[in-house]
Amino acid sequence: MSLPTLQIPVYELDLFILGKKVKYRPYTVKEEKTLLMAMESNEEKQIFETSIRCCDACLVDDSVKVEELSVLDLETLLIAIRSKSVGESVELQAKCEACEHKLNLNVDITKMRVEENGEPQDKIMLDETYGIKLKSPSLDSIYLSIINKTDDISSALLSCVDFVYDETTTYSFKDYTEKEKIQFIDDLSVENVKKINEQFIDKLPSNVIDLSFKCPACGKQNEKTVGNLLDFFT
Ligand SMILES: [Zn+2]
Repeated sequence: MSLPTLQIPVYELDLFILGKKVKYRPYTVKEEKTLLMAMESNEEKQIFETSIRCCDACLVDDSVKVEELSVLDLETLLIAIRSKSVGESVELQAKCEACEHKLNLNVDITKMRVEENGEPQDKIMLDETYGIKLKSPSLDSIYLSIINKTDDISSALLSCVDFVYDETTTYSFKDYTEKEKIQFIDDLSVENVKKINEQFIDKLPSNVIDLSFKCPACGKQNEKTVGNLLDFFT
């Protein structure tokens, strides 16, 4: 008689950019091992590929493709999968804002929420003729920039461009080679890059968690919000 197959629980999660609920399951011991090995390698490409593969396996929803998810949604999904797999509490270091005393806090990662940072302006004029249309960065574009080892500024921009336009023509970014796209980004003026950052990239929503703790050293009640939640896991 063969061993019985255990039923793996399935959970639901709201994805902000996608605008709908998806179903996912926790990862298995085998998947966790693969993930840990990738993290230990410290290789960006390997960590990225393994996380995507793991997310893909855990997403029990055929209507959604992981590589098409925006980065924000992937982060939400990764954290949710992890919290159902190895626990909902993570330890992080916080600093009292009054006396700078450092302490370790146990945080319930399921209390994560999406913070909107204003209204990202997705159409920006680069000069009198050409404008640029931006989109929430998706994984496949970030993946390409990792493979191509573009620097941080270029890759952030590269992953956000949807198309360039003038009065009569639309130049869809996906129709061009990586080399052509990088060339275009590298040729942007400093002022335009600043404009894109301030009006779009800095205003993209982010996953945050609210901390509330009383400092054991000076007694001050601290209230703060932290982002970059994926950093807690690595
Ligand atoms: Zn203090």
